[in-house]
Amino acid sequence: MCPCHSQIAYAECCKPFHDRTRLPENASLLMRSRYSAYALGLVDYIIQTTHPTNPLFTKSPLEIRKEIFYFCEETQFTGLEILNFTDGETKAYVTFVAHLIQGGKKIRFTEKSLFLKQEKQWLYAQKC
Ligand SMILES: [Zn+2]
Repeated sequence: MCPCHSQIAYAECCKPFHDRTRLPENASLLMRSRYSAYALGLVDYIIQTTHPTNPLFTKSPLEIRKEIFYFCEETQFTGLEILNFTDGETKAYVTFVAHLIQGGKKIRFTEKSLFLKQEKQWLYAQKC
């Protein structure tokens, strides 16, 4: 099963996005693929699908890699619910609940995220 908790096999869900053989057709699919990338520790995919305007890029490339790597290492990604998805030409919003376990503690957080389309690719811009 895919680590984005879609109940679909990984090979038919987020893997083609992670392999870069397919681009997510919309921001909701990109959102799912980023969640499963965190679950699998695919640091490059997280970086490559983050919009250049995201505050993450105020840090050095090494700091960014370390931060994402340790977040992935220390976290279990136990569930994802997409609550709302507002699609658009070049701008889209996804509201989701992410279920995580960190240090044996269950965490649940809700975020509304902004996604921007750049050269045919949806990218995560920032939380709203
Ligand atoms: Zn998936």
